[in-house]
Amino acid sequence: SQVIADNDIAYIIHVTAEMAPLAKVGGLGDVVTGLARACIGRGHKVEVMLPFYEAIARDQIEDLVAVDSYSSYHRGEWVPIQLYRGNVSGVPVLFLEPKSNRFFKGTAIYGGSYDDELEAYLFFSRACLEWMQITGCQPDIIHVHEWQTSAVAMLYWDMYHHLSLKRPRLLFTIHNIEHFGECRVEQLDMCGLDGQSYRSIEKAIDERTVGHNPERLSLLKGAIVYSNAITTVSPTYMNETLCSGWISATLLKYRSKYSGVLNGIDTVMWDPAKDPYLPFNFDAKDLVGKQFCKHYIQRGLGLEFNQVPMLNPLTFSQNEKCTPLVVCITRLVPQKGIHLIRHAILRVAELGGQFILLGTSPNPSTQSEFQQLANHVKVPSDYIITRFFRDDSEALAHMLYAAADIVLVPSIFEPCGLTQMIGMRYGAIPLVRRTGGLADTVFDVDDQSKQDCANGFVFDGLDEGSLSSMLERAMSYYQQRPDWWLELTSKAMELDNSWDKSAGEYLSLYQSVRVR
Ligand code: ADP
Repeated sequence: SQVIADNDIAYIIHVTAEMAPLAKVGGLGDVVTGLARACIGRGHKVEVMLPFYEAIARDQIEDLVAVDSYSSYHRGEWVPIQLYRGNVSGVPVLFLEPKSNRFFKGTAIYGGSYDDELEAYLFFSRACLEWMQITGCQPDIIHVHEWQTSAVAMLYWDMYHHLSLKRPRLLFTIHNIEHFGECRVEQLDMCGLDGQSYRSIEKAIDERTVGHNPERLSLLKGAIVYSNAITTVSPTYMNETLCSGWISATLLKYRSKYSGVLNGIDTVMWDPAKDPYLPFNFDAKDLVGKQFCKHYIQRGLGLEFNQVPMLNPLTFSQNEKCTPLVVCITRLVPQKGIHLIRHAILRVAELGGQFILLGTSPNPSTQSEFQQLANHVKVPSDYIITRFFRDDSEALAHMLYAAADIVLVPSIFEPCGLTQMIGMRYGAIPLVRRTGGLADTVFDVDDQSKQDCANGFVFDGLDEGSLSSMLERAMSYYQQRPDWWLELTSKAMELDNSWDKSAGEYLSLYQSVRVR
């Protein structure tokens, strides 16, 4: 990729289903906001186009104004849309609100009170391009994300580019390859494309369904084929996606336009020195506030805690009663290693630590399984919080990172993972499985070849035994070498996992595909 001068201003529009903090379900939301903000910080023009979900708290949007009214085609009719502009975390956002259908209504970002999510995002994808077409807005780059907005790539090259949009080029980011955007031919027809024409191996057919009746399309594959550049969210995950899974053949074919760019974390949103959610702030040089945060959470949740909170950072390691607090903040889905999390809850208790799980699950039986586990673990020092995303869970997540000594991320696969990086910034040492972005960001303290960047603990296996030995190692370091642990904590906090570096890589890609 070519080197860019920062004064070579690019105009980028993200078309996305999520944006933190107001429409965030997972890492996608964090990525869009963090990347947009970092590019704006370097002087580029960035806007985000987002469905105006009914679930969005409008008071979180600054300067919200209705701007354009227009219509976009869907299922044989032109659906009226109200477009709003506003600012979120310093990023200009365009909100699209369909006026005559139920799309994006309901109390949740996904799984709202309308039936067909896929149809809603096909509608949204076209409506974004339609707005650019009628207003003459021609960004250099349209950056699309995940299956939800994958159809933009096909709609752009097969429709809008033949109309008046000439300038934009497409960058597609895969945040999780498992989300294929399975789509029926007639669903693609609904947004005005000829669905049948995508039913080929070269275009968008989902190869798993070939020979089946009915065959399916994959929006994700369509975007891989139709975008000018593709990224995924870490170098190791990129290699993993090239090696396994039905889509790997397509990715290999387009290898030359595919790269892995590690996500950053938004260091303004995630800043223990200024975080408004924390009762006490702290930084790498002064960890007293962190000790208070731990104490505060332990008290608040009814866990055992040291009676005397330490006042002097130099004495706190000696006085610390050595009860490590392990947190796990996650969606409780198989990807995240549910069986390993379950095992860790039990094992940490046996090893004399405390465990807090902030877990959300779309599946009520998983929720209740963990609830039962919380009731059955007869160790008072365990606390399990299972809840769906609500306004207060974001605040709680901030508090838990600040309170934790250790953040556990035992994922089966993990495209990038943000929680290990957020954890480090808040002085929680990451314990991770070596996969995807976890392998690119966490280096084991006992790995002699990685001593310079050592910042956590890593295990390989998918079994409970591998996890257990790592937990034992980490706990014994914590309990037996408190000063060493304190040093490791400060070192982890000072690592730069900000968007600044990754934004530079994205900007190089934007510049390399844009039209001059
Ligand atoms: P994914 O996108 O697969 O969920 P990431 O690690 O990339 O995983 O991003 C997770 C983000 O969502 C982090 O900001 C994390 O703090 C937040 N998060 C995950 N689960 C919860 C939860 N149960 N409550 C609050 N925040 C959560």
